[in-house]
Amino acid sequence: LSLPGGRARAAFLRFFQERHGHRRLPSAPVRPRGDPSLLFVNAGMNQFKPIFLGTAHPRSELSRYRRVVNSQKCVRAGGKHNDLEDVGRDTCHHTFFEMLGNWSFGDYFKEEACSMAWELLTEVYEIPKDRLYVTYFGGDSSLGLSADEECRDVWLQLGVPASRVLPFPLKDNFWEMGDTGPCGPCTEIHYDHVGGGRNAAALVNQGSPDVVEIWNLVFMQYNREVEGNLLPLPQHHVDTGMGLERLVTVLQNKRSNYDTDLFTPILDAIHKGCGAPKYQGLVGDADVGRVNMAYRVVADHVRTLCVCITDGIYPGLSGAELVLRRILRRAVRFCSEVLHAPPGLLASLVPTVVEVLGDAYPELRKNADQVVDIISENEAAFLSSLERGRRVIERTVQQMQPSTNFPADVAWSLYGNLGFPLDLIDLMLEEKGIRLDSDAFNELVLEDAKRKAQGAQAAQLEGADVRLDVHSLAQLRGDNVPATDDSPKYSYK
Ligand code: ATP
Ligand code: MG
Ligand code: MG
Ligand code: MG
Repeated sequence: LSLPGGRARAAFLRFFQERHGHRRLPSAPVRPRGDPSLLFVNAGMNQFKPIFLGTAHPRSELSRYRRVVNSQKCVRAGGKHNDLEDVGRDTCHHTFFEMLGNWSFGDYFKEEACSMAWELLTEVYEIPKDRLYVTYFGGDSSLGLSADEECRDVWLQLGVPASRVLPFPLKDNFWEMGDTGPCGPCTEIHYDHVGGGRNAAALVNQGSPDVVEIWNLVFMQYNREVEGNLLPLPQHHVDTGMGLERLVTVLQNKRSNYDTDLFTPILDAIHKGCGAPKYQGLVGDADVGRVNMAYRVVADHVRTLCVCITDGIYPGLSGAELVLRRILRRAVRFCSEVLHAPPGLLASLVPTVVEVLGDAYPELRKNADQVVDIISENEAAFLSSLERGRRVIERTVQQMQPSTNFPADVAWSLYGNLGFPLDLIDLMLEEKGIRLDSDAFNELVLEDAKRKAQGAQAAQLEGADVRLDVHSLAQLRGDNVPATDDSPKYSYK
């Protein structure tokens, strides 16, 4: 049971392509095309949305597909799916991950979808059956939907014991693309990392890290209309997604995605580049834990940066680009504050990421130099802001009267002029045992918001096209949105 990540990915693609007649398609870029509702591509099905909606042109390439397989680059760091806050804290959620998927567009349905998945997991990957649990949709009376007994029976016929086939409610096992559109019950496959005959049903219920969801199979059966009605679709589709990193963790007999060969080369490169103690996985001790978390965050974030920049999302000031800038800054802060890495560490990891992912996504090789440049320029700019900020704080603290609060106007200027993250100001003051004058700071935030709103109104009266740009304090704290841009300017194209 130890398959390299690259071979696990290839085996998935080959299984559906060669054994079950699927057409293999490349991953779409993570920058969504023609879908303003999405910040990033967050699932394999995104590029097939027109097929489910029935809006694909009848003579288009898309509308000819019946069975498709691919490995899709996904980013879940904003919008409906946002796992950013979990990254580093757990060992199975990433901002960038690879979703292995197979689709049936009006072709096979529940029976074949489940039996192919079971065949792949237990015969090709040879995962022991007694480590697997499956869930199915348990029904929802408010929507008048009955339990998906058809799906349950498929699993029972495949030989899964009834004690391992569990009904779950709407929130877990009824997948919807949005408020309207195609939707349907789903069935999920979970892996028990501990085993030994324990009753994992309870673990699945509680979302225990011992039992991890690996694969979701969605049966597109309905169309949700504007009024909320569910109408049966004329055609039934299958849409599946399995996280490669979680699968490989199982296949390499590890407990954490970061202990697989998809991550270890990157963690080794971080270690070589910063001289911090080697990554040790999840450990109890607080200090080592913080260093280990930093390793995970940096390894995760640099993958995301490489993939996004390659696909044309650059660190910037709004939308997905702002999210990417936050990711870059979070990574830089963990590099410098926790790992005490020399400047340039983040950019130096790019070749390793390209090495790990470049065979599967050759586009990463084409632009690697540009990715290095963009990361290092942004890193340098942010590090120098951090340094200037530190000096300002030092000087101000030296001049402060004993037992007074840190002046709000200084904090505001650090934030506004240097793009200094607010939570970092809090943190640095806390280390010195000093508090920010937060009432006065809130005042400044409100005044600024009012000024901006008035400015925007005035501009509107003059017919100018200006967006109203008001942030609440909560938003400011959460997003670290600086009022001015201190990142370098490029002409990207
Ligand atoms: P979870 O409940 O663990 O957050 P999910 O139900 O949100 O996962 P799905 O939308 O069903 O995930 O996506 C299909 C598969 O993609 C999951 O079964 C999992 O293997 C994988 N996956 C989802 N989110 C992530 C992530 N942030 N990092 C790595 N893999 C993920
Ligand atoms: Mg999730
Ligand atoms: Mg889930
Ligand atoms: Mg799921």
